Amino acid sequence: MVKISCKNYGFDCEFEVNESEPDAINKFQKHSMVEHGIEYSSGTLNQIIMRMKNQA
Ligand SMILES: [Zn+2]
Repeated sequence: MVKISCKNYGFDCEFEVNESEPDAINKFQKHSMVEHGIEYSSGTLNQIIMRMKNQA
C-alpha cells in the first residue's frame, strides 16, 4: 500500500493519503498548499507514487 505523507517530505505533520483513495493526489496537493504553502504538480506526485511502488 502506497501512502503519500508529509513526514516523507520532512514536515512535522501527520497528514497522509493512501494512493488508492480517489483524488489522493488532489487531496495531497490541497493540503500541502494550504498547510505548508508548497505547490506540488500532479506530475511530480505521480512520479513520487511510481517510485514508491517500484520500491515496495
Ligand atoms: Zn502536512
